[in-house]
Amino acid sequence: MLNIKKNLSTLNKNMVNAANECDRDAKSISLLAVSKKHPIELIKEAHAHGQNHFGENFVQEGVDKIRTIKSDKLCWHFIGHIQSNKTRVIAEHFDWVHTVDRIKIAERLSRQRPIKATSLNVCVQVNIDNEIAKSGVHMSDLVKLCQAIDELPNLTLRGLMCIPATRDKYKEQRKPFAELYQQKKLLNEHNLKLDTLSMGMTNDFQAAIKEGATIIRIGTALFGSR
Ligand SMILES: *Cc1c(COP(=O)(O)O)cnc(C)c1O
Repeated sequence: MLNIKKNLSTLNKNMVNAANECDRDAKSISLLAVSKKHPIELIKEAHAHGQNHFGENFVQEGVDKIRTIKSDKLCWHFIGHIQSNKTRVIAEHFDWVHTVDRIKIAERLSRQRPIKATSLNVCVQVNIDNEIAKSGVHMSDLVKLCQAIDELPNLTLRGLMCIPATRDKYKEQRKPFAELYQQKKLLNEHNLKLDTLSMGMTNDFQAAIKEGATIIRIGTALFGSR
C-alpha cells in the first residue's frame, strides 16, 4: 500500500542523513516531488503532509493540475522537455523551469512571462554525459548560454540541472554530479550568481547530495512506480 506520509518522512530522514555524512546543512537541500503521471489526489495528500514543491514533465498534464489545485502555497516546477510552441503556457503557469537548453526557448519564456508575475526561475539543463538521445546543452556552449539568459528581463537564472546516464555504484554516480558542481563554480567565476544545482533522483540522490545538490527531484520513492 502506498503511504505518502511514511514515504515523505523516510525521504526527509534519508536526506538529513546524506547531508550529515558530508557536513552539509540539510536545510540547504530541498525536495522536489515529481508527480508526473500520478493523480492530483496524491499531490494533495503530499501537500497535506507539508510538501510544497512539485515537478511536472508534461505541459498539459501539469497545467491541468495547477489549474485544479489553485493554491498559493504550492510551487510548480517544469522539468520536462520544452517544445517552443509550449513556452507560453509554461511561462504563464509555472514558478520554475529546470530544462532550458537553448537561447530561443529562454527568450520566449522571458517574453511570454505575464507582466504581473514575478520573474521565472530558470535552470539550464546540461547534457552531462554527452548522450545523443538526451536534451541539454553541451558543456562547451554552457557559459555563452548562461550569459545570454542572464540578460533576459523576466527570467532569473538560478542554476544547473542534469540527468546523468544510469550508474549503479555510488562512487560512479558521484562523477557527473561533481562535474556539474564544477561547472556552476566556473560560471560564478564569470560573474553569474547561481545558487542552485538540480540533481539526483530516486536512485542516486545520496550521491547528488554529496556533490552539492540543492534540489533533488524524487518521484518513485515518494509516489511509487508510474
Ligand atoms: C521522472 C523524473 C524524475 C523522478 O524520477 P524518479 O526516479 O522516479 O525519482 C526526476 N527528474 C526528471 C527530469 C524526471 O523526468
